[in-house]
Amino acid sequence: MNTPKTLLSLYLVLAVILAQFFAAYFFSKGRASYRKAFSALVLCISFYLFGYLMIINNSNLQEMIFWNQIQYLGLPFVSVLWLMVALLYTKIIYALKAQIVLLLFTVPVITFCMRLTNCWHHLFYRKWEVREFLGYYSLYMERGFWYYVNISYTILCLLLTVIIYLIGYLKNKVGYTKPHFLVLLFASLLPFIGIVLIIFAYDEWSIDYSAIIMPISLLIISYGILKYDFLEIRTLARETIFEDNFAGMMVLGPGRRIIDYNKAAKKFFESINISLNNYPIEHILAGEPELLEVFKSESSRDFSLVIDGKERFFQIDVVPLGNSHDGNVRMLKSIHDVTEERKIQEKLKHLATIDSLSGLYNRAEFMNLAKRELDRVKANNELLSLLIMDLDNFKNINDTYGHAAGDEIIREVGNIILTGFRRTDIAGRIGGEEFAVVLKDASLENGVKVAEKFREIVAKRRVIYEEQEISFTVSIGVAAISGDTDDINDIEDIIKIADDALYKAKSRGRNCVAT
Ligand code: GH3
Ligand code: MG
Ligand code: MG
Repeated sequence: MNTPKTLLSLYLVLAVILAQFFAAYFFSKGRASYRKAFSALVLCISFYLFGYLMIINNSNLQEMIFWNQIQYLGLPFVSVLWLMVALLYTKIIYALKAQIVLLLFTVPVITFCMRLTNCWHHLFYRKWEVREFLGYYSLYMERGFWYYVNISYTILCLLLTVIIYLIGYLKNKVGYTKPHFLVLLFASLLPFIGIVLIIFAYDEWSIDYSAIIMPISLLIISYGILKYDFLEIRTLARETIFEDNFAGMMVLGPGRRIIDYNKAAKKFFESINISLNNYPIEHILAGEPELLEVFKSESSRDFSLVIDGKERFFQIDVVPLGNSHDGNVRMLKSIHDVTEERKIQEKLKHLATIDSLSGLYNRAEFMNLAKRELDRVKANNELLSLLIMDLDNFKNINDTYGHAAGDEIIREVGNIILTGFRRTDIAGRIGGEEFAVVLKDASLENGVKVAEKFREIVAKRRVIYEEQEISFTVSIGVAAISGDTDDINDIEDIIKIADDALYKAKSRGRNCVAT
């Protein structure tokens, strides 16, 4: 019994089982593309290790060559996948695009084909022979031209991987993710050492150092997974929050290139017939200058869009990502559909400002708007007149026909005011059965004319309530300011004057206009 060989075999069997387990585990858990890449990497490693296991337990050259071919089902892709995991994990690239895959996999695919067809051209291995060392057999191969191309590419990939993790480790400021980078850095350094050994110490012993080192790498990573739970729940939670958020989210990198986006963002842009990709937003929103303006902005913005014939309101918030010392802005844009909130806000505003019985402004809102208008008119030396109207003998109407009939009349007067005055006039119900209208750009004379006309309309109008025809009249007081009126500074002043006029109208016998 050959103890070293048995131990090595046992070691490799365990490594293959572990690798197969990880491959399956990460494939099933893999939502992010780096987990899928990691799963593929581990699967390739398991082919490679299994082939090596069979080789060292064999002494027949042809069978050894066969198992070497099995190794090459996985081996050419190991280093490039290792690099890919690093690129994806550190988010140097966010998604695998066809061009990147094509670029990275060219050499490995050629290597695969070269090894497969080696017996025809011997460009990969020039010569094979079985060697024996310490009682176990190994396959010795004389390296050909493409072998060196492949190994150079392998070293390049691993070197880049190590550099990426090193930079990731040094630059990472989020405390709890720092150990992840360290673990990945160590795990990537080991096969690198293995390859260097293969190149410089292979001829003597023809031992595949990287096959021996690779399981240790796998163990380190599995340690990291168990210890830090990385590539796992925390990342998954963060990704899920991003991906499944109700708000659309979009990450803009240097040059305002779209680096990442979630489902909701995709849906939002699809609803306006724009498909997202990894181009700068200037490119994507070239046909939508207003939207482009909103998405370029580094502050929060509101805008509305007509989608399927309905107006919808959106709020775009901005979260700066990292520092922009280099002048390159990186930001997270979130897109909230605030249409429902807007509707509620408008409803609340309506409830707070509109009198439900007459449909006119309530007292508070009328005072507000009238005050603003008065200030504006005074500042610009313009004209303005104010009508105060009070229904005549309303108590009697209430007493005769009932309170509900009185309400019906107030509603009717509201209607007459809404339809009878200009849209620019400000009309409110300022008391129980008292109304006020601000007429813009109207002199006292004009005000009186309008009031008279209104009085006549009211006097002719009848309200039918429970089959009874009710007539009603209104008394109106009119006041006005012209540019040079100095004694009116406040809305209360002019209301007081109009009120006095109203009192005069009442005392003249009602159903008339006074100034
Ligand atoms: P005058 O011609 O002097 O104005 O006589 P009047 O009876 O209208 O007297 P006054 O304006 O002082 O009385 C207002 C009455 O209007 C008192 C109240 O019963 C009635 N009133 C006030 N608000 C409402 C309301 O919302 N609905 C109804 N139905 N009646 C109201
Ligand atoms: Mg009255
Ligand atoms: Mg009154």
